Amino acid sequence: MESYLICNAVSPYEKANIGTDILKENTSQVLEAIASKGAITNYIILENEQHELKNKIEAEAKKLLGLNLKVILVDGSFRFVYGNASALLKVIEGEKPLPSNKEINENIFTVEEILNTELKRVVFDGAIKRKSTILLKKTISPREILSKASLIDDFKGMYFGHPMGLFVGEKDLDKEIEVKADYIFFFNEKDCILDRLKNIAERYTKESCGRCVFGFEGVTQINMILSDISLKKGKSSDISLLLDLCSEMRNQVLCEVDLSLATSVISAFECFKEEIEEHITKKSCKAGYCSKFVTYHILADKCIGCTECLEVCEDDAISGKKKFIHVIDQDECSQCGECIKVCEEEAIVKAGAIKPRCPSKPIPCKK
Ligand code: SF4
Ligand code: SF4
Ligand code: SF4
Repeated sequence: MESYLICNAVSPYEKANIGTDILKENTSQVLEAIASKGAITNYIILENEQHELKNKIEAEAKKLLGLNLKVILVDGSFRFVYGNASALLKVIEGEKPLPSNKEINENIFTVEEILNTELKRVVFDGAIKRKSTILLKKTISPREILSKASLIDDFKGMYFGHPMGLFVGEKDLDKEIEVKADYIFFFNEKDCILDRLKNIAERYTKESCGRCVFGFEGVTQINMILSDISLKKGKSSDISLLLDLCSEMRNQVLCEVDLSLATSVISAFECFKEEIEEHITKKSCKAGYCSKFVTYHILADKCIGCTECLEVCEDDAISGKKKFIHVIDQDECSQCGECIKVCEEEAIVKAGAIKPRCPSKPIPCKK
């Protein structure tokens, strides 16, 4: 049987082209690693704008006698599909790159696996919008990653992207894991896990190909449920529904694309169930992030009763008069945030789970 090796440098996440970066910086090293595997035919898959890199690889490959290598350029807009092993097989056979089964083919390696050594990876730090570079071994504990990224003091959780789709919280920091993700997000206390999970799930609506019902419908249902919870319409039954749906998806989907979303949801609940649940049970967002759960309050010791906020509030949610401490009616407030913009005294504040004590009706100002 002819042996072959596929080196996939198309990242599922467009901002984390780790494979391409490694190939650019270490072309000969990667080719030597490919040659050392001894496959009869070798393929490197690149995005179609990587003409220069293709030329460089082909020039370097000529120096390695006997290396049978083909570089295939593909449409980068299918990036999630190329993260799928079975889809890659179709690509080299010249077929449409649709995923067809969920078996992982042992002959397919990521660039990272081929190098089989310590790697340079880029960590995207979603929480504080900072890029840092760390070294990863094949297996590593999340705590070690954190300390290399110098984020240990500001940690709430982390997320390993496709194909892992794994949330990790404090309790799992010392578990050794095999990192097979193109990107990692770090979260701190200001990040809402529900919001992060919702953003992740939304991305899958563009990537799910619709070939299997459990994948496509599962992605649609997950998005609807998460969206309802974030809009304050969550029901207590939503959580068991989500978890049942995701465990069924893990058994039924045809490929690892939507499998990784199901894993993302399950691992998010394993690590942060209480925080997500509070959006339903307490109608509050612990991080004070989700706009529907944020409440606005007027601080009694700062309000001078100027009436500016009352005049801009289109929902008539503010009551008060000159030299009286104004009060916001939470039932009428639509969380538009207009009042906070006009208050020069900084008397209006947003609150998450912990609310400031305020008068229940307008009373004369102390100032
Ligand atoms: S799991 Fe999603 S991407 Fe994979 S075949 Fe099914 S619908 Fe398509
Ligand atoms: S909250 Fe601010 S804007 Fe509103 S009355 Fe008080 S001081 Fe004026
Ligand atoms: S946030 Fe908007 S609706 Fe609520 S009190 Fe302020 S201006 Fe009114």
